[in-house]
Amino acid sequence: MLSIVMHRSFWLEQALAGSVDDPNPLRGTVTSDVAIVGGGFVGLWTALMIKRQDPDVDVCVVEADVCGGGASGRCGGFVMTWWPKIVSLTTLLGADEALRLVRASEAAIDEIENFCSERAPEAEFRRGGWLWTATTGAQLGAWMKWSLVPRPWRPVPSADWIPERSGAARGRHSTSPE
Ligand SMILES: Cc1cc2nc3c(=O)[nH]c(=O)nc-3n(C[C@H](O)[C@H](O)[C@H](O)COP(=O)(O)OP(=O)(O)OC[C@H]3O[C@@H](n4cnc5c(N)ncnc54)[C@H](O)[C@@H]3O)c2cc1C
Repeated sequence: MLSIVMHRSFWLEQALAGSVDDPNPLRGTVTSDVAIVGGGFVGLWTALMIKRQDPDVDVCVVEADVCGGGASGRCGGFVMTWWPKIVSLTTLLGADEALRLVRASEAAIDEIENFCSERAPEAEFRRGGWLWTATTGAQLGAWMKWSLVPRPWRPVPSADWIPERSGAARGRHSTSPE
C-alpha cells in the first residue's frame, strides 16, 4: 500500500489534500450481487453501467487504495478514439474488425460526453480535436502509416483547421499522408 501512495499523481495529491484515510476499511465478509475489484475508470464505469441497467443490483467496488489511485488518477485527461491505432488494429485483426473497434471507441466518447453533461459537468468535458505532430526528428512522418488506411475512413482535417487548433499561424503541415 505504501508504494502505491508514494506514487500518487500531483493532481490526486492536491485533490486529496486535507482528507483523512477511510476510517472504515472493508473487514470481514460482505455480500453483494456483483463485486468489482478496482475502483479505476474501468471498475467505476462498470459499476455505473450495471446500476443504470438495473438499479436493484447490489454492486460492491473493492479498492485497495482510493478510487482513482491507479492509472486513472494519473492520466492526462485526454479522451481519444482508437483512430491513431487503426494501422496496428488492421494488422492484428483485419480491416473490418479494426473499423468496428474504432467506431466503438467513438461511441464510448459519445457516452462519456452524455454522462458528463448529465451527471458531472464539473469534469468540463469538451471536444478539442487532436493533431498528430512531431516534436523530434525521429517522430517526423509517423503519420505516413495512414496511407495504409482506406481513404474513405480517414478523418482528415482541412488545412484551415490546423492553425486554428494548434495556435500556429505558420509551420510545416500536411493534411494528406501521400
Ligand atoms: C501517466 C498516464 C497518463 C495517461 N494518460 C491518458 C490519457 O490522457 N487518456 C487516456 O485515455 N488514457 C490515459 N492513460 C491510460 C489510462 O489512465 C488507463 O488506461 C486507465 O486509467 C486504466 O483504468 P483501469 O480502471 O483499468 O486501471 P486503474 O486506474 O489502474 O485502476 C485499477 C485499480 O485497481 C486497484 N487494485 C488493483 N489490485 C487490487 C486488488 N487486489 N484489490 C483491490 N483493488 C485493487 C488499484 O488500486 C487501482 O485503483 C494514462 C495512463 C498513465 C499512467
